[in-house]
Amino acid sequence: MSESFLRQQFPIFQQLNDDKSWVYFDNGATTQKPQIVIDTVNRFYSQQNANVHRASHRASAAATEAFEQTRKDVAAFINARSEKEIIWTKGTTESVNLIASVLAKGHLSSGDEIVLSALEHHANIVPWQQIANEHGLRLKIIPVDENGVLKVDNIKNVITNKTALVAISHVSNALGNINPVALIIAQAKKHGVLTFVDGAQAVAHMSVDVQALDCDFYAFSGHKVFGPTGIGVLYGRQVLLDGLPPYQMGGEMIEKVSFSGTTFQGLPFKFEAGTPNIAGVLGLGAALAFVRQHRAAIHTQEQALYTALIEGLQSIDGIRFWGETSNSICTQSFTIEGVNNQDLGVLLNEHNIALRVGHHCAMPLMEALGIEGTVRISLSCYNTLEDVSRFVDVLKRVLCTLR
Ligand code: PLP
Repeated sequence: MSESFLRQQFPIFQQLNDDKSWVYFDNGATTQKPQIVIDTVNRFYSQQNANVHRASHRASAAATEAFEQTRKDVAAFINARSEKEIIWTKGTTESVNLIASVLAKGHLSSGDEIVLSALEHHANIVPWQQIANEHGLRLKIIPVDENGVLKVDNIKNVITNKTALVAISHVSNALGNINPVALIIAQAKKHGVLTFVDGAQAVAHMSVDVQALDCDFYAFSGHKVFGPTGIGVLYGRQVLLDGLPPYQMGGEMIEKVSFSGTTFQGLPFKFEAGTPNIAGVLGLGAALAFVRQHRAAIHTQEQALYTALIEGLQSIDGIRFWGETSNSICTQSFTIEGVNNQDLGVLLNEHNIALRVGHHCAMPLMEALGIEGTVRISLSCYNTLEDVSRFVDVLKRVLCTLR
């Protein structure tokens, strides 16, 4: 399959045809959307719009059917045992907040330890820190080495009988490292510890099998895997979700309401109060179908791009790579000796190159590495080898003006 075939699926690049030089390397922040996702969302609002689970009329029944079919498709996509294990959220951030807040109601008690890693995104730190402060829990951190790679040699002393939960990212958003989550989960299981995996950066780049990982909870965001914003997923093991209280209260999540008391629905609805993001769900379904259909081509293109990127960057004087190039999704963070990241970002933007500079919502990681931030290139399947060589050329020219 040609590199242009994948790119052609994304209308944003066609629209910018008169400006071929736009290089979008900020895919870790959000991905562009293929036509099939845009069409699915458009079709819902222009031809199918109705609420789900409520009315007996035909449009509502059709919307409900498509909505619940997508839940089954998502379950299959991550190999969950049942669609009851798939909860719709706004995104990874809401998924973490949901699980942290419901676990705090009775499943975590004073003195318990929550294990995080030094390279987590703030979304997988702050909610846990907050409940730790509120409930007298202690945070314990898996450290990183001088390149930002997790140090798991001492994991037996970090995850112990005192640990109640381990919350870890599958892939570092700041550096692109694939973390040894299976090893960490295996250690957690030895102590019967709950495990939460933040898959925000993983799902677009690798197959995820929650049963093989053996995690208890897994979260991701639609917009980072070619889907719409405002829709995400929380996977949870059914037996655990069944035993947890609801998150928010309102319509859709109830079974019976009276002024003397309310009973709640079963899974997955008890965690989904209010009208959900129906178009977002359908759009996410289309995005995951796109990934399923083109998985091999996506992988091949990403590998080719990443190899070319690393080769190109290696020719830059004073460059320092962070993370592990041999164990990365197609994301690379770097700094260049004597060069201010922000200045570089501004100048690259003037050349129509979109990338991210700064702490990447991972301030504790930057602190551990002793740096303020990095320049991050996060590639996706619609990028081209020409994008990579144009970027390396521009970078070399811009650096001449900076040093
Ligand atoms: N976790 C990781 C690893 C991320 O990269 C991000 C977003 O960049 C998030 C969580 C938060 O995702 P969202 O903003 O879609 O909720």
